[in-house]
Amino acid sequence: MGIIKKLHPHEAHKIAAGEVIERPVHALKELIENSIDAHADRIDIIAEEGGKKLLSITDTGCGIAPEDLPLAIARHATSKICSIDDLTKLDTHGFRGEALASIAAVSKLTVMSRQAGSSEGAMIWAEGEYVSEILPQATPIGTTIRVEKIFEQIPVRRAFLKSAESELRLLTQLIIPYALLHPGISFSFTHNGKTIFEYPRVGTIAERYAQVMGSSVAQAGIPINRTMGDTKITGYCIRPTQKRRDRNSIIVAVNNRPVKSSRLIGAIARGYSAVLEQGHFPIAFIHLHVPPNTIDINVHPRKEDILFLDARGIEESILYTIRALFAAERTAAARPWAEVSYQAPSIQDQNIKPAGTFSSIDTPPPFLYRAEEYPSYGPMISKSTNHDRKEQNASLIEIPDYRIMGQYAATYIMLEGRDGLILIDQHAAHERILYEKFRNRQEDMAPTVLLFPEQLSLSPHEIALVWSYQEIFERVGITLDQMGPQNLIARTTPVMYKGRVQDIVIDLLDKLKTERTAPELLKETLLERVCAMMACKAAVKAGDQLSVSEMHTLIETLYKTENFETCPHGRPTQWNIDLADIERAFKRR
Ligand code: ADP
Ligand code: MG
Repeated sequence: MGIIKKLHPHEAHKIAAGEVIERPVHALKELIENSIDAHADRIDIIAEEGGKKLLSITDTGCGIAPEDLPLAIARHATSKICSIDDLTKLDTHGFRGEALASIAAVSKLTVMSRQAGSSEGAMIWAEGEYVSEILPQATPIGTTIRVEKIFEQIPVRRAFLKSAESELRLLTQLIIPYALLHPGISFSFTHNGKTIFEYPRVGTIAERYAQVMGSSVAQAGIPINRTMGDTKITGYCIRPTQKRRDRNSIIVAVNNRPVKSSRLIGAIARGYSAVLEQGHFPIAFIHLHVPPNTIDINVHPRKEDILFLDARGIEESILYTIRALFAAERTAAARPWAEVSYQAPSIQDQNIKPAGTFSSIDTPPPFLYRAEEYPSYGPMISKSTNHDRKEQNASLIEIPDYRIMGQYAATYIMLEGRDGLILIDQHAAHERILYEKFRNRQEDMAPTVLLFPEQLSLSPHEIALVWSYQEIFERVGITLDQMGPQNLIARTTPVMYKGRVQDIVIDLLDKLKTERTAPELLKETLLERVCAMMACKAAVKAGDQLSVSEMHTLIETLYKTENFETCPHGRPTQWNIDLADIERAFKRR
């Protein structure tokens, strides 16, 4: 007996739809594009639970005639093309005519619409197989579409949805590029009753850019406008003083469509490689304008990625444009980008002459004290006997006996150990000490009211994240309030924290953006990060000259910490150079 059965068309449709609409953000993308195609000048988006409970979008576009409502939600029905030939001269977003049908297949979809000139609007709703009648409905001119119960009938898909916070982040990241590309449209986004952002319509991309990025980021932006052959590149590159830990702040568009091209994003990041240290990514918005016949926008079912006839050429144009931008800026300003911090002089920098004289006047000579200033050639301090912690736990790492020899390059403390030389990184060591102190003393995390509240400038999706994890921020002593659409204001900080609240918030957000742990563990992780941050800000820096007694205290306290071998970020605090290795180097062995 045969086992192959033809699927009911409705089931087939559900499966096909699932390929395109896998999560709420995919539905929202289609809905926003429909509103833009309908020439709306205002788009208001509402979501609940990251879109899992509700997505609603209201526009002021051309509306849909009541008799067209059933067609709008039917498959392969579109007002945008009549024949395949139209595909080539397409300047709208849609054209497959299946978005609304696909959304209806996996949710309850309600469409309410009224065209200009008609006295009354109409509505229709569809859920799975069922489609309602056309019903009269009082509604303003334009269209409102509601998507509820998404994937309720398809539990496997629902199970794949992420947390409400993660889905919310995807929604915010989706809307931003459209807002940037369409300054003439007002955009608002409300989540669980809270306004995430509101951008009134403006006349220029520059104004919209400032609305979206916040004033401090926008001020660090260099506008781009460059034509190379038939490719034009516009947008903004933010100076590397503002940077992020992930690629999410790199926005790319091609011919007015946002695209998620990892190749283009990679090219932008590489353009910054000379001015950004490793592990950091730029904030940039790059809009490419290319002849339509040199791209294929149909490679991706959701039209998210794009295929270029000459991908290499495009990448090189981007790379070149960004590099040239910063090269020009640098010559003009003749000053380095990064905040100048003291760097331990390396052999190359110092140009050390064989005779042992120091040629550079700018960099401090490696030895800041003469040997006789160190009264440390006394008896070796013995640590390895009778140490309480060792007795408790035999597997603990050996604590060395040592004698302080001095400070090298105002950064490393040199110790003579029993079996060789020990170099201690003074910053890493102090960080470890302070970190353990803060971890053990919760009162250091208590909020203290700032005399002058600090204004933080964050992107909208970062602000959305802050609100999702507000309780955690408060738990670590940071109280934030909204101040205008782009800015937050910090009213309290952990009592022992001595830096900018912006730095700590960005650090925590970087963690939250990538974190996949359970909320309870997350709290712990964030607490640890705040402690690490407080420790980092408060610790002695590379380049700080230490007195002998300061070095003594530092080393003594370091060896009393739980994990003295690494700093809270995982860098080693010490480097042991075995006597045997020294002997081998001198061919004594
Ligand atoms: P497509 O966008 O590919 O045409 P859709 O399923 O997204 O297909 O939409 C079907 C049709 O419904 C559109 O062609 C358009 O005529 C109408 N429509 C959908 N959304 C809107 C809207 N927000 N305003 C006006 N018309 C709309
Ligand atoms: Mg569409």
